[in-house]
Amino acid sequence: MKVGSVESPEWVWDHVPDEERADRFTQVAVWVEWLETTYEPWVALPACWPLHEGLRVELTMFWVWHRRVMSTVTEPAEGVHWHHELRRSAEAWRALAECTHEPPTRQRFLLARARHQLTNEHLRQAISRPAENPHAT
Ligand SMILES: [Zn+2]
Repeated sequence: MKVGSVESPEWVWDHVPDEERADRFTQVAVWVEWLETTYEPWVALPACWPLHEGLRVELTMFWVWHRRVMSTVTEPAEGVHWHHELRRSAEAWRALAECTHEPPTRQRFLLARARHQLTNEHLRQAISRPAENPHAT
């Protein structure tokens, strides 16, 4: 899709018109289903993968890369590289595999807020000069 005069890559979902969005989701979902079946047990994804923006974008990147590897690439090392990166990413995806995508609870909200406040405190410490920051390492 085009944004201004620049063509956006297919993994950029932000400005995809609604009519293209459904089609893109369908294409990626069909490919992800194939990926899970073909690369089981390496690839284990939660059913809610379309709702995890980072995962959706990464899977879309793999989809685009896979299409290129299977159509225009003539160097076998590129295909081996795709598989290597897929297995490596699949390890990271396992952390989400059991997600049930339940709505956020008040406790999760409070934990996230406390973590945000702690990060801000660490940022203030990091920004301050080392002589003024006895905890700097
Ligand atoms: Zn989820």
